[in-house]
Amino acid sequence: MAAFYAYRGYRRVYKNIMLGKKEDLSDHQSERIKNVLLVAFGQKKMFKNMTPAVLHFFIYFGFIVTQIELIEIFIDGVLGTHRIIFHAVENIAALRFIYVSTISFIEIVSIFVFIATVAFLCRRFLIKVPRLNKPELKGFPVQDAATILLSEIYLLICIFSMNTADMAMHHGEYGFAVSGMLMHLFSGWDYTALHYVERLGWWGHMVGVLALLVYLPYSKHLHIILAFFNVYFARLNPKGYISNMPEITKEIKLMMDPSATPPPVDANAAPVKFGAKDVFDLSWKNLLDAYTCTECGRCTSACPANQTGKLLSPRKIMMDTRDRLEQVGSIVAENNGVWKDDGKSLIENNYISVEELRACTTCNACVEECPVMISPLDIIVQLRRNLIMEESNAPAEWNGMFTAMENNGAPWQFSQQDRLNWAKE
Ligand code: SF4
Ligand code: SF4
Repeated sequence: MAAFYAYRGYRRVYKNIMLGKKEDLSDHQSERIKNVLLVAFGQKKMFKNMTPAVLHFFIYFGFIVTQIELIEIFIDGVLGTHRIIFHAVENIAALRFIYVSTISFIEIVSIFVFIATVAFLCRRFLIKVPRLNKPELKGFPVQDAATILLSEIYLLICIFSMNTADMAMHHGEYGFAVSGMLMHLFSGWDYTALHYVERLGWWGHMVGVLALLVYLPYSKHLHIILAFFNVYFARLNPKGYISNMPEITKEIKLMMDPSATPPPVDANAAPVKFGAKDVFDLSWKNLLDAYTCTECGRCTSACPANQTGKLLSPRKIMMDTRDRLEQVGSIVAENNGVWKDDGKSLIENNYISVEELRACTTCNACVEECPVMISPLDIIVQLRRNLIMEESNAPAEWNGMFTAMENNGAPWQFSQQDRLNWAKE
């Protein structure tokens, strides 16, 4: 049942991402693999700020290594066995040593995971680190973060209860490092009581893992899966690169070359749409970015607009994009794959406001900071292009500049012939 609900959740996310426009990001595969190794596996961009980086590394590393023990727990559950791998290797000294060392290593790492998880809870709820206490995190996002951190602690308690009771039941036969020390807590307990604790730990752990598997597609913690894909498919353009709009480039080239002949107008061609108004107008990579966002707020901390009290928060841009995509995805799913206009869009309607979009300086700091190679700026630029070019929604000061650009090829109100006057003297 858990597999069915998990499958539905992940399929929903995939289908929603595929609502975006096509974009080919299959080039430079070796560079992409290098990025995955350095940025996704190696957490390279995290280490700009050591404290959260080290804490996060323990949780991330712990998550990976505990999967090894989970394999045995899962096989035992399916086959009705008990420590099947241990019993398969117990009479082969070298393999038994590897097994016991592996479980002991997992237990030691789990202690660090426990410490890191408690530290994260303290940073968020007691110390109240500013980037983790911004207005956009109110409500579900903060509940989501707490749910995952508390689940982590719950799973650790389950696994240690299971291992420790198991060790006490078998008089320390397995030789695990941490549960070997903890088993004295159970001294004097009879076999039946220990068996109940061990089973409770096992069931608790299994139910917890399966519940998390189902919950993950609804949580920002989906990044533990999507970060690898997002980093692989990250755009490899030079820093600060902003893509041109082909239609505008064509117009500019014609403008700059008076002898060029404009191509014939195709009356049947679909009207050109500038920028993005809703999630359909963004590329699938923008939508993957939205689902991958960890809501860490590093982008918002570095954003000069946010620092100077403007409404803009690049983290909120990503969260709003994901929320709108979820809404659009539900409408499409309810109507058998057909979009029924709900009269809303990503701009305004409680999503991204014009004020936020105008506050962006396009400095690229948010892109630079993001540990999973997300670009809030790309979405901002596309939404702003739509505002200005489709809706003519720009402040009066900007309109004067646009007119000057169109007439004089420069933002100032004097003709091109006078351009070099300043150098005459
Ligand atoms: S590019 Fe815009 S959103 Fe990103 S940090 Fe700079 S001002 Fe903020
Ligand atoms: S966009 Fe990147 S830096 Fe910003 S909150 Fe999301 S994951 Fe963190």
